[in-house]
Amino acid sequence: MPNPLYDVLFGGHADSGRVFLHLPDGESLTYGAFVALSARLAHALTGCGLRAGDRVAMQVDKSPQALAVVAACAQAGLVFLPLNTAYTAGEVAYFVENSGAGLFICPSASRAAMAPMAARCGARLETLDADGTGSLMALADGCPAVFPTVDRGGDDLAAFLYTSGTTGRSKGAMLTQANLLSNAETLVDYWRFSADDVLLHALPIFHTHGLFVATNITLLAGGSMIFLPKFDPDAVIEALPLATSMMGVPTFYTRLLDDPRLTRDLAAHMRLFVSGSAPLLAETHERFEARTGHRILERYGMTETNMNTSNPYEGDRRAGTVGFPLPGIDLKITDPDSGATLPHGEIGQIEVRGPNVFKGYWQMPDKTAAELRADGFFITGDLGRIDGDGYVHIVGRNKDLIISGGYNIYPKEIELLLDDRPGVLESAVIGVPHPDFGETPVGLLVAEPGATPDLDAIAASLAETLAGFKRPRKLIVVGELPRNTMGKVQKNILRDRYADLYR
Ligand code: ATP
Ligand code: MG
Repeated sequence: MPNPLYDVLFGGHADSGRVFLHLPDGESLTYGAFVALSARLAHALTGCGLRAGDRVAMQVDKSPQALAVVAACAQAGLVFLPLNTAYTAGEVAYFVENSGAGLFICPSASRAAMAPMAARCGARLETLDADGTGSLMALADGCPAVFPTVDRGGDDLAAFLYTSGTTGRSKGAMLTQANLLSNAETLVDYWRFSADDVLLHALPIFHTHGLFVATNITLLAGGSMIFLPKFDPDAVIEALPLATSMMGVPTFYTRLLDDPRLTRDLAAHMRLFVSGSAPLLAETHERFEARTGHRILERYGMTETNMNTSNPYEGDRRAGTVGFPLPGIDLKITDPDSGATLPHGEIGQIEVRGPNVFKGYWQMPDKTAAELRADGFFITGDLGRIDGDGYVHIVGRNKDLIISGGYNIYPKEIELLLDDRPGVLESAVIGVPHPDFGETPVGLLVAEPGATPDLDAIAASLAETLAGFKRPRKLIVVGELPRNTMGKVQKNILRDRYADLYR
């Protein structure tokens, strides 16, 4: 019976002896063994009473077995719902309850703490540990290595992925089989993935970047992954000479650049470095090229859509841009008030449409209706512009836009200037409430190690380049910027922290 996602990504590899995962202990797992493992897990899941369409929530450490649960859900027609390992029991309760999950999988060490929550939410509880053991694997161990694949169509739900919660409470994005497959197909082609690729995988598998972008592309191309439990510079540097490609968040690249072992020689065997999930500073892009000879390929996507744009594989990968809309994906810049399409060059909200765009937010009909237009365009919540050569530039989030005395201020414009000042490592500009202007910009600076930025000199230099209304009313040096686990700066936390500055 057909089940496009399972058949294309997993089932087709059932008899393959090729390596799928290279593991840190020097072991490896073949495609055939992985598919057999996932079939046993599919028996275990259905043995727990789950039926097609039911949700499986999982908050566990990264392991091959955890990845096999993803495949098992696909084969059994279950909706997979991964949860960030950093979430507390209270946060997890929200997701399990909100999703109506029939099963919650956690490490055995968390079992006692999670049991009352699972019971309250009506979810069965099983465990899976980082070493691949636990009650779920114990159920799977005795099961057959073949499972009758459950019939599914492209429009059926494959995953609920909760957004990162950078701008507020996480929303459950409902993704279909066709959403995931279409994007994987496009990216394999666009980024030239093949069975010869060895992808260095140090990303978490609870987020779209590591779970779908990296993994589904590898599966579709029939390549292999060096599957590291997390980003550890030593392990990544050791593995780089064996890999052909890597996908990372910008902090991977800045941390690699901090390490003198990152050299041209070390990266000589690589063909592609991809960055996304947060803005890559142009400076990082340039330093990486100077050190390794590689131009990082930056792309832009989100939980709700997978990937929307990418810099070209061949051709000019432009620092500070996220490239072009991917084939089959329409992207337009619109006026936030009227919804009208704006001409090239103007800043507005980014809207996308294509087979990659999700079905809506789980149990949030109002939010879905507000962000997903009837004609299929999704209002991403990001602001951007398209330049004369067709490259898309992300300017920031709509929610981070500062409106001061009726004027729009795009924080990124100011942050780029601040980042360039002597002694400044990075910055965040936020709008704080102000009695006269409604909001006013405030600049938060992180100093370079050992440096003391001269705030008066910085303010004076901004006065030379920025219109008065855009100049931060105050510059404040902070130890670090609050970031979530995907490395994204949480401006809502900063706004709360400084809300009373002028009140
Ligand atoms: P929430 O929607 O809950 O506030 P989130 O938007 O951070 O959280 P994700 O879906 O993980 O959750 O992230 C998608 C967002 O990440 C995009 O909307 C965009 O703001 C940002 N992003 C992704 N790639 C890039 C990039 N290359 N450059 C700049 N921003 C990026
Ligand atoms: Mg978002």
